[in-house]
Amino acid sequence: MKFIEETRVVSEGELQINNITPYHVTKFYREQIAKNGYYDQLKRIVEPSVEEFESPGTLDTSGEHDNTVVPGLQHKYPQTGLLLVTERCGSYCRYCFRKRIVGKTSDEIAPDFAQVAQYIAHHPEMTNVLISGGDPLMLSTAKLDKILDHLLPINHLSSIRFGTKMLAYEPRRFEDSALPALFERIQKSGKTPIIVTHFDHVGEISSDAEQKVRTLRAQGVQFLNQAVLLAKVNDDPEILAETFAKCHEIGVRPYYLFQARPVKGASHFQVALRRGIEIARGINQRLSGIEKTFKYIMSHYTGKIEILDLGDDGRVYMRYHQNKVSEKIGRIFSRPHVEAACWLDDLQGNEI
Ligand code: SF4
Repeated sequence: MKFIEETRVVSEGELQINNITPYHVTKFYREQIAKNGYYDQLKRIVEPSVEEFESPGTLDTSGEHDNTVVPGLQHKYPQTGLLLVTERCGSYCRYCFRKRIVGKTSDEIAPDFAQVAQYIAHHPEMTNVLISGGDPLMLSTAKLDKILDHLLPINHLSSIRFGTKMLAYEPRRFEDSALPALFERIQKSGKTPIIVTHFDHVGEISSDAEQKVRTLRAQGVQFLNQAVLLAKVNDDPEILAETFAKCHEIGVRPYYLFQARPVKGASHFQVALRRGIEIARGINQRLSGIEKTFKYIMSHYTGKIEILDLGDDGRVYMRYHQNKVSEKIGRIFSRPHVEAACWLDDLQGNEI
């Protein structure tokens, strides 16, 4: 197998034991990164590294399994349902935090959408569903339509989100002539269709992607972008500011910049909190008020934590953006900084 560092002979068993994600890159993405001047950075998103055998961590850092309420549906925060519909992706990101699922057969994928809908119907506090996986746009539009057959009759859902990296990996997926009708159906049922794109780097925003976003926006689809802060890929305020400015320009609102998680086989992508805070500050210094709509977030077992600052008192300041316990949301707390810490669990001192 070809790794970034070397070619190495590995057995199928070794790949399985070490949970190595399958290797697959679309022709489109391969060509896009070869010609855009960022090959050395972007190849790390899709090309395997031998570091994947050694990077420590666990496979479910956010407690997804514990928050699964019926097979394939997670309900961690009251207003949001997270529905996993496929294990497949256009290409496989080497940093994926769902390495335990993608490219494999997983019992965390919803087998029965009627059961999912029944749960949601009994939970009026849930106002939106995020359809994810894997990448939901790997499913045929007919299959997505079937899933919507179950979700659209639920009156208390006000938006349907699709989390997808296909605008980076295969924007031609959005040329499907059946897709406009799918988004129209969502709107006619009184809900807002939202696509959450996954552009980690300005070099992933091709002219094809830009054109598809503009067309879908004209059809009433809203766009948000989530990115992951990745060592040796985009750990540079200049690049991320350019990425978010480009998103803003094409009508995609920068939404989350995720701290990479301590996932087994992917933790070598983590950037230390000290550096991450510097980068977030650097991005904000470069963007206008209307462009800086992102939050620097650690998606922790306990909730979504916004990372705010490293104070002169040597403490890391944070705030719960989402938490199961609503009283904790919005409250600022801090822990003593520990050099090279990348995650809340690395900050072991007294919490204030
Ligand atoms: S597209 Fe999303 S789910 Fe698929 S490998 Fe990449 S990050 Fe993971």
